[in-house]
Amino acid sequence: MRMRSYQVCECGAPLRLAESEAPTPQGTQVLLRMLAAGVCHSDLHIWDGYYEVGGGKRLDLIQRGIKLPLTMGHENVGEVIAVGPEVSGVKVGDVRLVNPWIGCGQCKVCLRGDENLCLKPQSIGVYSQGGYSTHLLVQHPRNLFDIGKLAPRDAAPLACSGVTAYSALKKVSATLKDEALVIIGAGGVGLMGVALARKMGAKDVIAVDIDPAKRDAALTTGASKAIDGAAPDAVKQIQAATGGGAWAVIDFVGSSQTTNLAIASIIKGGTVVVVGLFGGDVTVPTPFLPLRAMTLRGSYVGSQTEIAELLDLVNRTGMPQVPIRTRSLDDVGAALGDLRAGKVVGRVVLTASQ
Ligand SMILES: [Zn+2]
Ligand SMILES: [Zn+2]
Repeated sequence: MRMRSYQVCECGAPLRLAESEAPTPQGTQVLLRMLAAGVCHSDLHIWDGYYEVGGGKRLDLIQRGIKLPLTMGHENVGEVIAVGPEVSGVKVGDVRLVNPWIGCGQCKVCLRGDENLCLKPQSIGVYSQGGYSTHLLVQHPRNLFDIGKLAPRDAAPLACSGVTAYSALKKVSATLKDEALVIIGAGGVGLMGVALARKMGAKDVIAVDIDPAKRDAALTTGASKAIDGAAPDAVKQIQAATGGGAWAVIDFVGSSQTTNLAIASIIKGGTVVVVGLFGGDVTVPTPFLPLRAMTLRGSYVGSQTEIAELLDLVNRTGMPQVPIRTRSLDDVGAALGDLRAGKVVGRVVLTASQ
């Protein structure tokens, strides 16, 4: 069985097609034939090999343990086509969503159930081979989830953009049902956030984006109001829309500008959750933390439990209405290029012709 994979062989250089024999699963491994692979914004950072951390400095991902050549792709749904001798719980023919946020299973963080925050992360499509490929080898069936009645192309983005949004929303659940929630950034993850917030019972969602097309998409997806984040009076507009300042802002961009906007827009006692990895830095006067009783925290993807909760929510209440466009696996380079150019509204999902 031939396997075709698109790989990063050199940071920032075009992906290269690699062909090999598909692996035979050993032990607890499971081999999937790929049905759908979502294209995520963080792939651009992985491809480039760094995150911007402000002041012209960079966080180097190769030094952090990413090894090349790497097949990216962490939003994967596939059909089980072979299992190792120690596998139980899945069988050939099952269609499964893959939790890519796997850890060592042994460190303190993993043992608390937050494998996504593992101190020695093994994440699929980041630290181990991912789904921009005809086949994907998964190390253990515990990371595979039944998608129920969902279509593979709809389910795939739940593994990253879905669970990232869901986990961030859970961190503002104290005020979600009673107060307006502000979501900055209406790209793939931000739109998922808008849609899921509604499904989780949000009273009101106000979207902020500098791109009018993305503001329109946010309104269609469930936001009651969309504000231009580049407007000189953006803070005033957010304060007016939330009746005096936001109790909760989720920043799905994570640039200096957006996080500063978020901090400026909250009410006393409010919370800012930074999710996006655009890059930059912020300076917060330390007296603001106590005097405004503010919470500034981060959220990174989601846990095994949160993926299960999200699949349950979506199977009960229907898929978030986020625009999804399907493209061929062979167009992965072009799909990433469009994403970098800001031309993608919603999500692109790749499908492999075998
Ligand atoms: Zn992602
Ligand atoms: Zn760990």
